[in-house]
Amino acid sequence: MRIYSCTCGAPLFIDNTQCTSCGRAAGWCESCEGMAGFDTGAAGDWTCATCGTAARPCANYSGPGVCNRTVRADDPQTLCRLCGLNDTVPNLEVDGNRDRWARLEAAKRRLIYTLDLLGLPYGTDTTPPLRFSFLGDGELAGHWVGAETDQVLTGHAEGLITVNIREADDAAREQVRVDMGEAHRTLIGHLRHEIGHYYWDLLIRGRTGAEQDFATAFGDPNDPPYDVALDRHYADGPPPDWEGWHVSAYATMHPWEDWAETFALWLAMAGVLDTAQSLGIVHGPALQDTATMVEQYRRLGLAMNELTREMGLLDFAPVVITPAIEAKLKSVDWLMRGAAVPARDQDAPGQMFPVGS
Ligand SMILES: [Zn+2]
Ligand SMILES: [Zn+2]
Ligand SMILES: [Zn+2]
Ligand SMILES: [Zn+2]
Repeated sequence: MRIYSCTCGAPLFIDNTQCTSCGRAAGWCESCEGMAGFDTGAAGDWTCATCGTAARPCANYSGPGVCNRTVRADDPQTLCRLCGLNDTVPNLEVDGNRDRWARLEAAKRRLIYTLDLLGLPYGTDTTPPLRFSFLGDGELAGHWVGAETDQVLTGHAEGLITVNIREADDAAREQVRVDMGEAHRTLIGHLRHEIGHYYWDLLIRGRTGAEQDFATAFGDPNDPPYDVALDRHYADGPPPDWEGWHVSAYATMHPWEDWAETFALWLAMAGVLDTAQSLGIVHGPALQDTATMVEQYRRLGLAMNELTREMGLLDFAPVVITPAIEAKLKSVDWLMRGAAVPARDQDAPGQMFPVGS
């Protein structure tokens, strides 16, 4: 994530709703593809102070305040293109749900930013269409006809990414993380994993060459079938030497989960390296190829782990990227880059805040 600049010269971060220096309303401008300050006219109309485009805040920005994106004035939609991906949003009559939703949207903004950065296709017009459902326990029955339980499971099905909004409660999520022995458990991590399943459906399923490449790198998804692998995983746990071959214990369960976990690491690496490059910490073409990405991420991860340990925090980069894991990352990279459309203009998005060199 890059740091943008208000026309007054102050930095603007991706979650800002106001410039702390000049007081302008802040938000994402679709025209300059970055964070910007906005001037507000007498009739409540907004104008991007960077590019001059007429816009209005997304209905989820002006309403519940869970979004900070804008919509171009000539766009008939009231929701921005990120909020337009939502299928179900939390019930705002439940105490705390607005804040949970805001945290989920903040994670989603980072996710979509990285997809745009990499030029990956997504949307409601893909097959399957990408949709998000943020649901609390007890809200499922009315959502999925025939749902047998009131417990919402975070997961992916046919492009629909469902997240149990309990994951937005730090204490609840941390308890599960400890119980499951996970190195990290974060909202952005959930979204990166689930969108990995979406890309499998979108770009690999039913494509002979891609399915073969996938099976070569991750194994045959039909042997054993998913439900058999699931039962075996929860009965027996991961194999003892899993860390040499998989990015997490969960990834050992089935080739699809191995893909999603590896995909999530690949996406995290891209996001981290983009941020580090914009800060001047990493030099050179950060996202050029897997070998360069892994090398830069290794060096950065080493330094960051020492810094987070110094502060008594969890390791920043807990996964040791072995040659086997690097080969899988390379496979993800290969399969995804073939699908990437020319990325948005990465050289001059918005107005960049001058940090580093
Ligand atoms: Zn400003
Ligand atoms: Zn603009
Ligand atoms: Zn929005
Ligand atoms: Zn999964």
